[in-house]
Amino acid sequence: MRFGAAVLRSYEEPFAVEEVMLGSGPAGGEILVRIAGCGMCRTDLAVRRSAGRSPLPAVLGHEGAGVVVETGGPDTGLSPGDHVVLSFDSCGHCRSCLGAAPAYCDRFAALNLFGGRTENAARFTDAAGGALAPRWFGQSSFAEYAMVPARNAVRVDASLPLELLGPLGCGFLTGAGAVFNSFGAGPGDTVAVFGAGAVGLAAVMAATAAGAFTVAVDRHPERLAQAEKFGAVPLDAASADLPGRVQRLTDGGARYALDTTGSGGLINDALRALRPTGHLGLVARLHTALPLEPGTLDRGRRISHICEGDAVPGLLIPRLTELWQAGLFPFDQLIRTYPLADIDEAERDCEAGRVVKPVLIPEHRT
Ligand SMILES: [Zn+2]
Ligand SMILES: [Zn+2]
Repeated sequence: MRFGAAVLRSYEEPFAVEEVMLGSGPAGGEILVRIAGCGMCRTDLAVRRSAGRSPLPAVLGHEGAGVVVETGGPDTGLSPGDHVVLSFDSCGHCRSCLGAAPAYCDRFAALNLFGGRTENAARFTDAAGGALAPRWFGQSSFAEYAMVPARNAVRVDASLPLELLGPLGCGFLTGAGAVFNSFGAGPGDTVAVFGAGAVGLAAVMAATAAGAFTVAVDRHPERLAQAEKFGAVPLDAASADLPGRVQRLTDGGARYALDTTGSGGLINDALRALRPTGHLGLVARLHTALPLEPGTLDRGRRISHICEGDAVPGLLIPRLTELWQAGLFPFDQLIRTYPLADIDEAERDCEAGRVVKPVLIPEHRT
């Protein structure tokens, strides 16, 4: 079948919306999804800085949501017409997958970032028959359609605003999952969130929904205003003695801190802002060595990396939609929609911080 997709052909050039071809219908365990909307995540944009490691040309996009059109075999657990949110890919067989930790799948990087499943390599081409990189994060959903392992699709209620739900599969899942799964934050806990972008603001919403007292640190006043609206006490990242200020606000230090910035200075500040035995979670990929100042890990403080919010998407995504319906996880307030054809404008707005979460809506000419 032929359909429109945003293709990235070089690390420097804009996306080009063009026709692509999918050579065969769903194999066993796969589903074909008509994409209603796809969020843009930092990881999509980081491909430009991957220094050749992410194969091109590629159709990116890994926060898709849409309607199942066709299923491969009887074992997908899904039917045509089902509404689904698409999440990251995992093998289903390694020790991490068996242990309900699919974000730590032995094949996570291979399946999601650097080439996908090799058996799919020849199926996806451009209109001239030129090869495209295998599906990105098991999806490649900056497109009208996506062929997806059913394992990565989560059925959602058809009354929900489907075109907005895609970011629940990655960015919002990451922030909320860190709070609910990695921290297990609850009433009376204190959470400090460093960086109030899509992931950080999802963490703020989740921490507030969990009944925790939350502090949000950022350098952009508009992001801090949003965090405040979602229940956090805002703190300018440039404040003098940032750790001391967090400690005073949290009665001796935050029980949990989440860094979404990857900045060494802020990570050290976040550790100093923790109370003894506190836990700092990192979600951003570090690009340089991380020097820790003396004393920052003393007294039982710990630091860990958190991938995809430690989530089992099939469990966390329905929880997030239920919280949204209850008015406790208003993620839609962070979204601005763009036609898929305007993907370059969405990227510029995202990079410039003018929008927290762009969602691209394909036009469906076919
Ligand atoms: Zn696995
Ligand atoms: Zn993502």
